Amino acid sequence: MRPILHKTIRSCSDMSYNHLLVSRGKQAENTSIHLGSTIIGGGQPAMIAGPCSVESYEQLRSVASLLKKTSVNVLRGGAFKPRTSPYDFQGLGLDGLKLLKEVADEFDLITISEIVDPRHLELAGDYIDVIQIGARNMHNFELLKEAGRLSTPILLKRGLSATLDEFLHAAEYILYGGNKNVMLIERGIRTYERATRNTLDISAVPLLKLETHLSVLVDVTHSTGRKEIMAPCAKAALAAGADGVMVEVHPNPAAALSDSAQQLDFEQFEAFYNEVKRSGLLSPAASAGITIS
Ligand code: PEP
Ligand code: MN
Repeated sequence: MRPILHKTIRSCSDMSYNHLLVSRGKQAENTSIHLGSTIIGGGQPAMIAGPCSVESYEQLRSVASLLKKTSVNVLRGGAFKPRTSPYDFQGLGLDGLKLLKEVADEFDLITISEIVDPRHLELAGDYIDVIQIGARNMHNFELLKEAGRLSTPILLKRGLSATLDEFLHAAEYILYGGNKNVMLIERGIRTYERATRNTLDISAVPLLKLETHLSVLVDVTHSTGRKEIMAPCAKAALAAGADGVMVEVHPNPAAALSDSAQQLDFEQFEAFYNEVKRSGLLSPAASAGITIS
């Protein structure tokens, strides 16, 4: 197979990814990951949604009951928050994971939460279904190695300034450790552009899909930071071949303890969900639409 990334980025045509465990050379067919009734990478793109941070039982419960009106059955929520400032809300930690478990059990949902410390990886498996490794930790090789020792699915975010080559090699660390259950998620990269929070690299989707059998998702919240363009960006991601999209939703974004400017409220989520659903690009199960109010 042609080394697409290297050819484009490094102009080095004799290099290939085919020796890597993440590559299509090693495995031609897509790796699909079963998350309850949602299969990521199985050809039916999915939506993942939830608040930026787990803040309280009531907050999480209200988001969970919103998701139950949709076909979304994967709930995200940060408990260990990697914040730019030490004075900002750092997350509820283990208590946040416990709340995720409580609400997931109550509503029969699958949960995703970020783990930042290798010492918490094993413990996390008792409370959540998918471990997120965030953008700031994509280069944390010790964390990647430890994640490789688990069988828990890992959602690996693209680093803030990571090339696709670095992204694929970060995933390779996890597979090399023995954990094949890895999903990649593009979340925007740093460029000179200030109109969006980060620059959503849509080209990453088809390029990664060409090179790797791992599923590729797009986080429209942290990439754009702009509520008014999240739906078109989600549709663009799905049209480009993404296996799913992730979006943040909060019952009262103005009062949110993190990312208050970019989380959708319930009405905005309804509009987002319905617009993406109407595109026909989500899985058929998602094609019924919702009315919240
Ligand atoms: C998140 O998804 O909660 C998050 C912190 O995102 P990122 O690592 O992409 O900044
Ligand atoms: Mn966030």
